[in-house]
Amino acid sequence: MFILLSVGLSVVAQDQYLTAKSDTTDKVYIAKDTYRVKTYSQKFKAKNPKNIIFLIGDGMGVSHVFAGLTANKGHLFLENFKHVGFSKTQSADSYITDSAAGGTALSTGHKTNNGAIGFDAQNKPVKTILEEAEEKGLATGLVSTSSITHATPASFISHQAGRSMYEEIAADFLKTDIDVFIGGGIDHFSKRKDGRNLMEELKTKGYKVETDLKEIEKVNNGKLAGLTAPVHNGRIAERGNMLPIATKTAIDILDNNKKGFFLMVEGSQIDWGGHASSTVYVVEDMLDFDKVIGQTLDFAEKNGETLIIVTADHETGGMALTDGNIENGVVKAAFPTSDHTAVMVPVFAYGPGAEEFTGIMENTDIFFKMKKLLIEK
Ligand code: MG
Ligand code: ZN
Repeated sequence: MFILLSVGLSVVAQDQYLTAKSDTTDKVYIAKDTYRVKTYSQKFKAKNPKNIIFLIGDGMGVSHVFAGLTANKGHLFLENFKHVGFSKTQSADSYITDSAAGGTALSTGHKTNNGAIGFDAQNKPVKTILEEAEEKGLATGLVSTSSITHATPASFISHQAGRSMYEEIAADFLKTDIDVFIGGGIDHFSKRKDGRNLMEELKTKGYKVETDLKEIEKVNNGKLAGLTAPVHNGRIAERGNMLPIATKTAIDILDNNKKGFFLMVEGSQIDWGGHASSTVYVVEDMLDFDKVIGQTLDFAEKNGETLIIVTADHETGGMALTDGNIENGVVKAAFPTSDHTAVMVPVFAYGPGAEEFTGIMENTDIFFKMKKLLIEK
């Protein structure tokens, strides 16, 4: 009885964002502080990218982007991306994808069934772009505001039939030589049914294992496992600059590899704002994600051989902007659903190879374009 109860509770804690409800104060975002958006050079050193930084705003549709743009009084770092397209997000078995099938389409080029992680629609494991990069000798990394075992990051490194197999997903990290990963998920690595302590195993494998962002920030070489929360990181008020700090740290470490790197960074909670029908939550996480985009532009402009791709796995909430004011940074939204929707999501690209990412494409095409540019060049 106790076991049943505690399993039930942990499931609730795991996916609380799916049932969170917003109150009326969540419907309108009113700008408190805004940030300055820089303009970046559009001239690049190389024809093909040496590095790819792949940024996924979970649940980020056009309305989420424009809500952020309005809230920041008219500008986002995203405006530096001159090549823009749309991605069709349907999964193998559903008009409306979940983040597991959406992530797997982007990471492997296979449309799969909702819930599957790194498996095709016939339940066979399929190689991810991160695994391809690793085989080629490139450095690899994953960063997320959710648990690092959650569907989006998991689909780049793990092969499991079900997205909620968090402990199995955590164990899959040990089967790879990923150079850096930063996100939540301490419990899935160290409080396990099988009794293994994967944090200790990671140390044996040569990783620095850190749970404090201040320690994570100091690491600039070697291998790093940064686990910043028991499961998911909190909302922005609690987690602060976790995502920008984690992203900068990951880039510092990965850029040591002379052959180049592949890094995926997820703004996980844009989706959770949509599930909660909360304009405030969506905007907070959209702006956090855009600041991370700015940070990757800082690196890519100097580096000149880095392709940045920004997209989403699907749209969440059917978000509609029903009122607003760009001058004052005020935006109001309505959400006809607390689930994902079927609509196309935007794709933005900056850097060598960016011109490939225009027009209407399948989500799986993004994998093939990345593979052509980074692996097969
Ligand atoms: Mg996600
Ligand atoms: Zn979602």
